[in-house]
Amino acid sequence: MPVIATRLIEWHKQHGRHDLPWQGNRDPYAVWLSEIMLQQTQVSTVIPYYARFMREFPTLRDLAQASLDAVLALWSGLGYYSRARNLHWAARQVMQNYQGQFPEHRELIQQLPGIGRSTAAAIAVFAFGQREAILDGNVKRIFARYFGITGYPGKPKIQNLLWEKAEASLPTSYRSGEIEIYTQALMDLGATVCTRRTPLCDACPLQQQCIAWQEKRVYQLPTTKPRKSLPQKETVFLLLAQQQKLLLTKRPATGIWGGLWCPPEIGTDIDVVSYCQHHLSINVQASVKLPSLDHQFTHFKLRIHPQLLHVVSESLIAPPQFIWIKPSDALEQGIPAPVRKLLKQNFLTDHV
Ligand code: SF4
Repeated sequence: MPVIATRLIEWHKQHGRHDLPWQGNRDPYAVWLSEIMLQQTQVSTVIPYYARFMREFPTLRDLAQASLDAVLALWSGLGYYSRARNLHWAARQVMQNYQGQFPEHRELIQQLPGIGRSTAAAIAVFAFGQREAILDGNVKRIFARYFGITGYPGKPKIQNLLWEKAEASLPTSYRSGEIEIYTQALMDLGATVCTRRTPLCDACPLQQQCIAWQEKRVYQLPTTKPRKSLPQKETVFLLLAQQQKLLLTKRPATGIWGGLWCPPEIGTDIDVVSYCQHHLSINVQASVKLPSLDHQFTHFKLRIHPQLLHVVSESLIAPPQFIWIKPSDALEQGIPAPVRKLLKQNFLTDHV
């Protein structure tokens, strides 16, 4: 048995997390949901979302039968909305292609939308007890440090090397439950001990063998991504107000905030009043510029300039692409985080 596996399994008995709401549940649907929610998101943030989701859609069939709008509304605030769209799409594929039975093997799980190799492996481990290696961001950090691997883990060469190490570190015995404990221990170590900013090496069960610790390179590993400064984009949100309601429009299914509700958006160089007249058939009074808002995506920064406009003519635009909605009700819909912030800051008082 590799030393790393023995030590982690032993460590987990006392120091691992044993009381997460999705633990002890072999239902592949519950395992899958928790794994997707936990991507790029902390456990404490996920717990209430997971509970609400399981209450609303207790089975994979319930999720597959739900509307995408209902799924996005429940996901609202958790971010990375493509996860919710893929979850919904994958549930429908499991119903259609596997008669509602979640596939058991990592290779098949991995073919479902939104499930990469590591997530597929985690589902195969926790739901079906299969011997598969995981390699999410936290685990990459542990292996890069433990094996002293230099180089940005996003590079294919480094990534392949880390996968080799992940495979070679798996417990070799087939004692019942061992692979699950080992995998959970890796996740827990990454979340609580071998953290990015403040690794607690003196409390780490891997300290003796850890190359980064021996060579005093803990803070240099894993190698960070070569920095490119993010481009900045600007946009104008049209906050069209009429009878205590705001106009929201559904964004296209693909692209940023796909399928979510947002105020109509235009470029900063476009005349607002004539845009409203010609593209939305709405006459507006002079606008009020509200404080701008910054939002960061993975590949760019967005500066949002909100403009409040009072509608003076009856508007004919209507669902399904547009809705007039009270700001307080909009918070219940699938809306992106900056729109939520905007509404809370400006429209739950007396602007409208
Ligand atoms: S000794 Fe430190 S750097 Fe090495 S695995 Fe443990 S916590 Fe991470």
